[in-house]
Amino acid sequence: MCDNTSTANLTRLVVDQESMSAVFSFRIDAECHDSWARAGTIQTPHGTIPTPIFMPVGTQATVKSVSPEELREAGAKIILGNTYHLMLRPGSKLIEEFGGLHSFMHWDGPILTDSGGFQVFSLGHLRKLSEEGAAFKSHLDGSAHMLTPENVMQIEAELGADIILPLDIYAAYPCSPGDAREAMERTHRWAERALVAKARHRPEQTLFGIVQGAFEGDLRAESAAFIGSLPFPGLSIGGLSVGEPKARMWEMLRYVTPALPRSKPRHLLGVGSPEDLVIGVGLGMDMFDCVLPTRVARHGGLFTRSGRVSIRNTRFRTEHGPIEESCDCYTCRNYSAAYVHHLLRAEEQLFYRLASIHNIRFMLRLAADLRASILAGSYPAFRDDFLARYRPASEQVRDEQREKWRAAKLR
Ligand SMILES: [Zn+2]
Repeated sequence: MCDNTSTANLTRLVVDQESMSAVFSFRIDAECHDSWARAGTIQTPHGTIPTPIFMPVGTQATVKSVSPEELREAGAKIILGNTYHLMLRPGSKLIEEFGGLHSFMHWDGPILTDSGGFQVFSLGHLRKLSEEGAAFKSHLDGSAHMLTPENVMQIEAELGADIILPLDIYAAYPCSPGDAREAMERTHRWAERALVAKARHRPEQTLFGIVQGAFEGDLRAESAAFIGSLPFPGLSIGGLSVGEPKARMWEMLRYVTPALPRSKPRHLLGVGSPEDLVIGVGLGMDMFDCVLPTRVARHGGLFTRSGRVSIRNTRFRTEHGPIEESCDCYTCRNYSAAYVHHLLRAEEQLFYRLASIHNIRFMLRLAADLRASILAGSYPAFRDDFLARYRPASEQVRDEQREKWRAAKLR
């Protein structure tokens, strides 16, 4: 009987989703013949998003050290906010009192909020996981909280983002096939509960589904087919970039993408170094988000077409030119690399802003160039040329950084 109710609810939701096309739509503008890359256009209540797109992350309702005006000037079309952080401080009810995230943080473009689950599972605050949801203690004051598929929909309705995500579970890397299946199946049951709960809230918000399946190819394909068949207007791929070698992540997308419906936008959750964007687009991904570009910027790591450079390096001490000659960002148009180097050495506040602006602009220009190459039918050549020139941080450097950041977070 439960099953019948659930099926009836989901059938009704399909109808609701169709009538919702006025608030959210996705159109494919061009597809690559030699890869799974596509260029598209997403419509949301707060504006249009050309894809492929990079979404800067504003964890605490701010992209660290960068104002909304600066984000817009850098070409940002959509930003991401973290539900876990915002529900604890200042609280989703307070943000609702201020008219939602858009007016609270003075960003009038599209916003995506995650479900909060990733932080609860990954930052070690989880106390008890059950079929009902995830009980955890706040990292701020130790207070007890519970996330369920239903209350996450309410919290995200209070935050008011254009695109919202349901509570899901990812399996740690590495994990057994049994644990991978258990997390995936629970994610699927929670996805159906989230769809039913979402119908009680704001129709102008669009709920994406999340694909799981850890590092098991058959589970990834199964999850993509199942989540793709539910009435979600868009799909996020979760549980990747959690410590595995990059090759494993790309291998999993080779199972996921062919099993997904072509007509829905695909978001690769929490992934977004320059080389990830270039490779991910070829594997069929449309949307990317990651704290990496702004986080490495604050530590002096700046992106250029030939790779990531450390502006701390003494070779920049007397550099009259900008960080990158061809960059059109506010920082490169107005400041020498020597000045940015000096600001970092002197630990000046302005450094964080100028460095973040450069990396955000780099990512958005890269996304725009990827889109242009798909429209021109030359994505494979663009990808090969970019990867031949771009020197990424080695896996060892990445692992060390990840450990450092994790330690800093938990302190
Ligand atoms: Zn620049």
